[in-house]
Amino acid sequence: MISVPTFSEVLLGTLRGAERVAILTGAGASKESGIPTFRDADDALWGRYDVRDLATPEAFGRNPKLVWDWYEARRRAAAGVAPNAGHAAIARLEEKILEVTVITQNVDGLHQRAGSTRVIELHGSLFRVRCSRCDRVFADWSGRGPHVPPRCACRGLLRPDVVWFGEMLSIEAIQSARRAAGRADALLVVGTSAVVQPAASVPLEAMRAGAYVLEINAEPTPLTGVVNESVIGRSGDVLPALWRAAWGE
Ligand code: NAD
Repeated sequence: MISVPTFSEVLLGTLRGAERVAILTGAGASKESGIPTFRDADDALWGRYDVRDLATPEAFGRNPKLVWDWYEARRRAAAGVAPNAGHAAIARLEEKILEVTVITQNVDGLHQRAGSTRVIELHGSLFRVRCSRCDRVFADWSGRGPHVPPRCACRGLLRPDVVWFGEMLSIEAIQSARRAAGRADALLVVGTSAVVQPAASVPLEAMRAGAYVLEINAEPTPLTGVVNESVIGRSGDVLPALWRAAWGE
């Protein structure tokens, strides 16, 4: 039996009357598109590596080709899948709400492909690279030669423009995320265990500022019981159900 999630009238009324809504997403939001979270990444090609050992500046220093190739495989995988019903429901919020800000820890570009127009990428993007020496950012690096990884004009190695374990997030991205959370009437926290800073502080920031916070996750997290409301389920099921419950279309 498929259970239909239920939502409180306070939540639905808040959404219907909201001018600003923020959505914080993590790897769980992309899982139904076929992109594994780090926790369940165990495919044959990369299973012999701990992904947390590949997503570090030290790993790139030790073996830049290995790290580049792993990101190339992740980029291809992300480009080869489609946004899911959860991404689509988030994008459709823009039909009803004046200002919708997606704050994502994902690097797969699926929110933008689903149609979301205001996306803060806290952890960067698979679809950009930057020079490890001069920090110049490239959205197209096809002309940078056959060397793997390719090199910048300054001769520095190009690297994925993502935030690796042990690296600082962009201050600008964090500030924009905190601002969006602090101004929101409601915040949806979707598919993230929300234990890693600064993403972990976004829901608390929103609650402090008076936003109604709903968590949607496949399993309970440290936030469950702290937020105003929590629904256990897959984001591709729960978000479209939420949209229908609020606006009935
Ligand atoms: P995470 O710590 O945010 O954990 C994923 C969460 O999603 C878990 O709480 C899990 O219960 C939940 N979940 C799983 N399937 C779900 C579903 N269908 N619906 C709702 N919730 C679901 O993420 P992680 O995997 O440990 O990754 C850590 C970081 O690595 C990410 O924040 C990101 O920067 C990067 N990463 C990005 C991607 C991507 O871009 N798609 C994928 C893997 C990892």
